Amino acid sequence: MSEVQILHSVQQFLARQHGHFIDGQHVAADGLERIELVNPATEQVVSTIAVGSETDVLQAVKSANQAFKHAWANTSPYERGVKLNKLADLVEQYGEELAQLETLTTGKLINISRHLEVAQTVVFLRYFAGWATKINGQTMQPSIPSANGEKYTAYTMRQPVGVVAGIVPWNFSLMIGVWKIGSALTTGCTIVLKPSEFTTLSLLRLAELAIEAGIPKGVINVVTGKGQTGHFLINSPWVKKVSFTGSVPTGIAIGQQAMASDLTRVSLELGGKNAAAILADANIDEILPALLQATFVHQGQVCAAPERFFIHQSKYDEFTQKVSGAIQQLKIGSPLDESNMFGPLSNKPHFEKVKHYLDLAHQNNQIISGGQVLKGTGYFVEPTLLKVSGVDDPLFIEETFGPVVDVIPFETDEELLEMMNHSRFGLTASLWTNDLSKALRLIPQIEAGSVWINMHTFLDPSVPFGGVKASGIGREFSDAFIEAYTEVKSVMIRY
Ligand code: NAD
Repeated sequence: MSEVQILHSVQQFLARQHGHFIDGQHVAADGLERIELVNPATEQVVSTIAVGSETDVLQAVKSANQAFKHAWANTSPYERGVKLNKLADLVEQYGEELAQLETLTTGKLINISRHLEVAQTVVFLRYFAGWATKINGQTMQPSIPSANGEKYTAYTMRQPVGVVAGIVPWNFSLMIGVWKIGSALTTGCTIVLKPSEFTTLSLLRLAELAIEAGIPKGVINVVTGKGQTGHFLINSPWVKKVSFTGSVPTGIAIGQQAMASDLTRVSLELGGKNAAAILADANIDEILPALLQATFVHQGQVCAAPERFFIHQSKYDEFTQKVSGAIQQLKIGSPLDESNMFGPLSNKPHFEKVKHYLDLAHQNNQIISGGQVLKGTGYFVEPTLLKVSGVDDPLFIEETFGPVVDVIPFETDEELLEMMNHSRFGLTASLWTNDLSKALRLIPQIEAGSVWINMHTFLDPSVPFGGVKASGIGREFSDAFIEAYTEVKSVMIRY
């Protein structure tokens, strides 16, 4: 099949001299330094973006602070919800444009950009829109003794924290950006986003659509650049909360910086080395399609996806053979060709990182299937199954964030739990079984923020998401995000 036609509007957007999006409009960057955005399938530069300086960041945060105090504060909760819903309508309307921008800079299969990234962006926006009218405090009855017949009552109110810094990774820039926008705007906060330097364009385009949706200028600002730009943002005294999604080392640095910056609130959504456990009763043929989809979607570059398969000894050979067969059938190629099932890795540094792990596995003779870097143009590697030498093997311990999965046999539940939990990470895990009694006994003992049964890598806005251990601090979605984006004010009244 041939590649999808790049829309004229996308070509025009790519050709722009992008600056930042501040106070409701595109503004030229303070400095001259540019970053090239590379299509990972072709290695061609598709556009360039600006590097945000301290001056750029200051301008954006000032605008967000003004909007927080005036325009957004004067917008009723109902209106905030209406505007977020209007933005969701526009994301749907311009969905193909946004999907193409994502695919051209991340290598995500076009159908994943359309039906996962853009479609879920809409779902999350509508979910957050619904919360705008439902953020309330409580009333209390104090127990203070009354000497002269006086009485007391008390209530709490939830107030927005203020300007939020949203720092976003490259794997699902649009959707993860919207997790932060939706949480901030529905609670009455405003936001300055710092998208990844590899995949910046979809959020720049979304900021334009927000103005079209009637969201006042300054409520959503986007400053582009690398880590240094994010660093300036966190240092700003007007930033009252940092919402970060990315790697553990960056998360730790950001957490320390936020604490040093007068205890700026911070939530961290970080990496994982997630486990999928296939128990003795699992029917391999039945579970395989869902398990493989969850594992290799977007070439395994999904924080929640499994990188360690634990297989009951009785099913190990059957499982390994069938998974190897299935992944060899995945058609690898251009992400713009709708018939392909597996695209490139998203950027060169990440390709080099995954290649390093594949080299290590080759040196130690650990490849079960796959393991090759594709010759020619683009950052393509094969989906790969590995056997690890033990729980201290770097391939068992370190997050590859790629399509590289360990296959590890186990005999008893105790052995399974010990190996699953032998990790500094604790983001997600899954059990594949119809033995409900066993699953319910294992779930509390698994050290992970999310546990799925007969599914994996499914995020739903109504279900809280976040990590334990080094996988993060805080929860997104459901009503859990409200705690992070609002402060509780207690009011007591004597009458
Ligand atoms: P990264 O940590 O390298 O970068 C993330 C963002 O932080 C980028 O925008 C980057 O420019 C910025 N940044 C880097 N240094 C900074 C600094 N000192 N101060 C402020 N900002 C800084 O991560 P990445 O490579 O973009 O993304 C991959 C990682 O993200 C993986 O570890 C993956 O597991 C994790 N991730 C987690 C989730 C989750 O929800 N838990 C979701 C997606 C990705």
